[in-house]
Amino acid sequence: MSKPQTSVVILGGGPGGYEAALVAAQLGARVTVVDSDGLGGACVLTDCVPSKTLIATSETMVLLRGSASLGIEIPGTGGAGNGGAGAGDRGAGAGTWPGGPGERDWIDAPRLYRRVKDLAQAQSADVGARLAAEGVEVVVGRGRLTRRTRPARLAGAHAVVVGDREIVADVVLIATGGLPRVMASAKPDGKRILTWRQLYDLDELPAELIVVGSGVTGAEFASAYQALGSQVTLISSRERVLPQEDADAAMVVEDVFKRRGMTVLSRSRAAAVRREGGGVLVTLTDGRAVRGTHCLLTVGVVPAVGGIGLARAGVTLNDRGFIEVDRVSRTSAPGVYAAGDCTGVQMLASVAAMQGRIAMWHALGEAVQPLRLDHVAATIFTEPEIATVGVDETMIESGQVKAEAVMLPLATNPRAKMQGFRDGFVKLFASPRSGRILGGVVVAPRASELILAVSIAVEQLLTVDQLAHTFSVYPSLSGSLTEAARRLMLPARPRAPFGEPAQ
Ligand SMILES: Cc1cc2nc3c(=O)[nH]c(=O)nc-3n(C[C@H](O)[C@H](O)[C@H](O)COP(=O)(O)OP(=O)(O)OC[C@H]3O[C@@H](n4cnc5c(N)ncnc54)[C@H](O)[C@@H]3O)c2cc1C
Repeated sequence: MSKPQTSVVILGGGPGGYEAALVAAQLGARVTVVDSDGLGGACVLTDCVPSKTLIATSETMVLLRGSASLGIEIPGTGGAGNGGAGAGDRGAGAGTWPGGPGERDWIDAPRLYRRVKDLAQAQSADVGARLAAEGVEVVVGRGRLTRRTRPARLAGAHAVVVGDREIVADVVLIATGGLPRVMASAKPDGKRILTWRQLYDLDELPAELIVVGSGVTGAEFASAYQALGSQVTLISSRERVLPQEDADAAMVVEDVFKRRGMTVLSRSRAAAVRREGGGVLVTLTDGRAVRGTHCLLTVGVVPAVGGIGLARAGVTLNDRGFIEVDRVSRTSAPGVYAAGDCTGVQMLASVAAMQGRIAMWHALGEAVQPLRLDHVAATIFTEPEIATVGVDETMIESGQVKAEAVMLPLATNPRAKMQGFRDGFVKLFASPRSGRILGGVVVAPRASELILAVSIAVEQLLTVDQLAHTFSVYPSLSGSLTEAARRLMLPARPRAPFGEPAQ
């Protein structure tokens, strides 16, 4: 007798949901995805994909501004975008940042935002096509877990209601994502006071943008809008921007921000934001006031878990309001799994997708490796980018992990010189006993691509000797990674104190 087909219902069509659906379909389950706002989720439609599309344009502006130092004169700009940049400064010379004369006019904002939204829709359509090709049913609407009303003799322990339809399933995955956190004293109006999801409905580039919050999202938008020509003020409640990230990396990025003319207000907390005249007024907790034309709020994400029947289904939330899951994505309710931002485990599309896949492998009886957060590769898409994988410096400093480190600035890398930039470094962490590579940090343009080599080393338990014996191209930025590995493999050689360039 053949095994009965397992039925799976997934709430949410973001990466946590759709990647799970693909795995479940591949394993022969009958899969239904219920999604309210568009396949691909917030990741594709409002958050990750749109922001990186905007950043693709801002990166081009960075290159244009640095063009003079590479010997390019852009006709008709009177030297704007060219002026003042010293060789190797990637356009960061005096007078070039922020926006030289009329540089904001280089941007056709409606066209830029149209491109962002079209690309997101196209990506969402691709997700839909892929799900359809795998035989996944997609139901449009808001779903919630409910008590089963169908006769018990029918298969399926759980029920999800969408409108007047009840879908019964053996397994449920909740992947409903998150929502921008808003402060009661700073209500977004979609015009001047904005969440990141409202930016692309503007018909202009903000002339003076105040970004509240200097975490990953705040830093990325501050970097992008500064490059596009906005005058940016970044309000950071902590001592430095990107307080959760590698301190050396955050310092490089903050330094670049300031050198290019950004106002960074550290240890400053926004108390309230309101409209004033044609612009906005941000009041800080110490009474200072900051004025601008627009304010972008990037003060966190809250889980989208309200009104979906979790309590009745026996699904427990943690003290931060996120769904509690274990490392194979199980919730406290048997047969109910959760993945992605609604779990608050690590708010990355790649982690959401992996949690979703793991849930399905586990639910459908496959061998499964529990989620390993110490192997997650992540990037902050500022200019330059910060990419990290594996252990971080705080774990080493606290004694939690024993590791040696080497940091090589890219200023001495020949390819960096040719490409005209000097801000950045590579850093590797390795076990002093085994030589195993435990983690790394890359700060560079396209660090997001360079980190893969370190990520493979961490995942495959490679040693510094193995990386050092691997060919890198000459000249290349990745040459600095193999060079860092070589430095770590020489026990006889005195090493630079941790955190200082070992050149
Ligand atoms: C500005 C920004 C930039 C980012 N950039 C990156 C990046 O570069 N790289 C990266 O890895 N991560 C990035 N992230 C994080 C990434 O977007 C999230 O981690 C990812 O979207 C989480 O995926 P998810 O599937 O959990 O949820 P989502 O993508 O939020 O999808 C959830 C879906 O569920 C739907 N839904 C909610 N409730 C219901 C319901 N009751 N019934 C049916 N459907 C429902 C929602 O409408 C949505 O479509 C970024 C985040 C932000 C804010």
